[in-house]
Amino acid sequence: MPRCSTSRWGSGQPAICPNTAYPNPEPTMTLTELMDTLPYGPAPEAAQPALDWLKAHEGRFRLFIGGKWRDPAQPEWFATHNPANGQPLAEVAQAGAADVDEAVKAARKALAGWQQTPGHLRARYLYALARQVQKHARLFAVLETLDNGKPIRETRDIDIPLVARHFYYHAGWAQLMESELPGYVPVGVVGQIIPWNFPLLMLAWKIAPALAMGNTVVLKPAEFTPLTALLFAEICQKVGLPPGVVNILTGDGSTGAALVAHPGVDKIAFTGSTEVGRLIRKATAGSGKKLSLELGGKSPFLVFEDADLDSAVEGVVDAIWFNQGQVCCAGSRLLVQEGIAEKMYAKLRARMEKLRCGDPLDKAVDLGAIVSPVQLQKIQRLVQKGVEEGAELWQPSWAVPSQGCFYPPTLFTQVAPASTIAQEEIFGPVLAALTFRTPEEAVRLANNTRYGLAASIWSEDINLALDVATQIKAGTIWINSTNLFDAASGFGGYKESGFGREGGKEGLWEYVRKAERPGPKAQSRKTKASSKARETASLQPVATSLRPAIDRTAKLFIGGKQTRPDSGYSQAVYGPDGRLVGEVGLGNRKDIRNAVEAARAAFEGWRKATAHHKAQILYFLAENLSERAEEFARRLQEQTGEDGGAEVEAALEALFAAAAWADKYEGVVHPTPIRNVTLALPEPVGVLGILCPDDKPLLALAKLAGTALAMGNTLVVVPSPAAPLSATDFYQVLETSDIPPGTFNIVTGERDELAKTLAEHDDVDAVWYAGPQAGHALVERASAGNMKRTWTLPERGALPDTDEILRQATQIKNIWVPYGA
Ligand code: NDP
Repeated sequence: MPRCSTSRWGSGQPAICPNTAYPNPEPTMTLTELMDTLPYGPAPEAAQPALDWLKAHEGRFRLFIGGKWRDPAQPEWFATHNPANGQPLAEVAQAGAADVDEAVKAARKALAGWQQTPGHLRARYLYALARQVQKHARLFAVLETLDNGKPIRETRDIDIPLVARHFYYHAGWAQLMESELPGYVPVGVVGQIIPWNFPLLMLAWKIAPALAMGNTVVLKPAEFTPLTALLFAEICQKVGLPPGVVNILTGDGSTGAALVAHPGVDKIAFTGSTEVGRLIRKATAGSGKKLSLELGGKSPFLVFEDADLDSAVEGVVDAIWFNQGQVCCAGSRLLVQEGIAEKMYAKLRARMEKLRCGDPLDKAVDLGAIVSPVQLQKIQRLVQKGVEEGAELWQPSWAVPSQGCFYPPTLFTQVAPASTIAQEEIFGPVLAALTFRTPEEAVRLANNTRYGLAASIWSEDINLALDVATQIKAGTIWINSTNLFDAASGFGGYKESGFGREGGKEGLWEYVRKAERPGPKAQSRKTKASSKARETASLQPVATSLRPAIDRTAKLFIGGKQTRPDSGYSQAVYGPDGRLVGEVGLGNRKDIRNAVEAARAAFEGWRKATAHHKAQILYFLAENLSERAEEFARRLQEQTGEDGGAEVEAALEALFAAAAWADKYEGVVHPTPIRNVTLALPEPVGVLGILCPDDKPLLALAKLAGTALAMGNTLVVVPSPAAPLSATDFYQVLETSDIPPGTFNIVTGERDELAKTLAEHDDVDAVWYAGPQAGHALVERASAGNMKRTWTLPERGALPDTDEILRQATQIKNIWVPYGA
């Protein structure tokens, strides 16, 4: 805007603004009146520096592998466009499988050196990257806006500053890794696949923690938005990052798929659609690759009747019109308390009328362009569906530019909870509004989704807000705020929004592993419960020391009761000398379903039980086990041939440790950089299926199940088929220990058959599977249905450390609570 020579608005003499179309204000005009009459004038950011950068590369970009720019093995290129005008910006290489192979080899070659680089030196590199991002902030911001279509106001003030912040923050973790994560080493070569909605920010979320922890990476940006990743590769060169530590491969979905499939990759970190996340889960099943998935969302935005409505309206603007609604955690479902709904909608419509949509480089624009024609069509299709399903559509009176990919802010009211627009991720500037009457109904509606990424709660009553926050199943909750992000706070989903966290200390665990995995794989002792053995079991003599005799087949334990297996069959259990030591029930799908139902019914009660109460029950379990120590020791000896007494002692210690952790596994308060308390709370994962290892059957049960219980989960435990009798004896201990019915269920039977049922079950939240390698693949593949978390362990060998079990038994919910009078 041209500057005026004098400025005496409203005080007699009018100001003179030569060469402008602006009217000279009336001499008597107040400042407020003046603001209302000022016409809009575009304030475009200069595109030239970014265009010059593209020109300097002659509009063509190669692959960044091993610190050098290379042509793709197959000479294939594709164009990237400016979605605001459809103009091509540059051509980039299409990486194929051979290029993926080269990049993974380069990353592997660089790994040892990078891993051994002292934390302080890695911190210096990350610091240098942060500084370079800041020094080139304007270029990055403009380039991002050109390639993606998001408003320059956002790239300049949000995306790029957050990118720098991520590198600074993780420079700190590189420095502190040795002292704060002792005994942990990098995972290795990490394949990272990112989407187009926050191209450079997602790169930073992935690369910064990976490098800080000593990993090397191969990153594939989205095909719509590769340019800022390529500029980032240049700054990697500039800061002298060792060759191969960061490799950037441009390409489409097939490049991503080749990276996922490459056997030289130790971990895949993915952000994108749940659909592709599911494909990746299946593709990596059984490969031993570590996996983190940040997927879609349909996040609720709850407004209670005591909320500050004007603030809430501004919150909605940030929730659903930030980045044109192309945000995984966009507050796309507005849930308003019935009494204030009409008032809220009226305010919202008035605000929408004033939003500005147009050239993303214009600093005064609120909504830029949708990333591509295909995404625009998806939005149009889903909006049409909303209308067909009977919802009421409202859009402002102004029109969006006719050229380029633009879509107006859209409000749907009269939305049915089960309708497509209330359930499907639209990924556009479209808000679906529903009403509720009570907080209970609000929570039910909020949780009525397969996703669980985020939620925003608006109320002046902090008691109500926090109470609702703890009940919503989502990884991030913003109170009286929305879409706040910071490197110090973890971000990630519950349910089909994926697993793993990015940011905060909790995000680091995705990029490390224990220095030593469980020792040498012991010889797998074949489970002798074949069907043949089943038929002949009752004909064999039972080991003489066994009590009770063969006629007492151990039952299943479901919902606090001993139950017979649905199949009516039993399974023989043999000792190491081949002698029959007992029989257990042969559980099947139906028994698992009953056990899951019981565990689900018990979950809310157990979750809400105080930590002190949970600890008391665990101590009581230990006390009752110790009462029968001799009997358990004998049973262990019969099944394993090992020192049962020592194992019982170790199991008692494990139960004590679980009880101890019940009220000591604390969350943290993240120091996010606004006037804000960000509470990182560990929450139970939910209903867990635990398939126990063969070694140390009682200790494994006490340690895995005890710790999971301590964290508030309810369990369906499948004991080791090689030695299940300690678990079935254990239900008698459970019966005498005040544990609520359904909290701890035991189903004996064929491990892999039961594992598959558990992994496929949509009401199971996580499966821990200890067993042979083939079972790992089975469980991971079958779990893709509802994207449940899985944790696979060897059939035999040392049990994981308690800190690992605690992390697997919990998920972090970050609750942002801003303050200020
Ligand atoms: P995708 O999930 O397809 O893309 C994310 C990334 O994965 C991109 O780099 C993509 O490459 C890559 N990719 C695609 N297919 C495979 C594969 N089989 N194996 C490995 N990598 C693959 O998202 P889209 O861009 O297609 O968007 C579709 C929908 O996904 C959106 O409408 C939205 O609903 C949702 N979405 C959610 C995001 C989130 O943050 N939760 C982010 C982006 C989209 P390429 O770009 O070349 O296709």
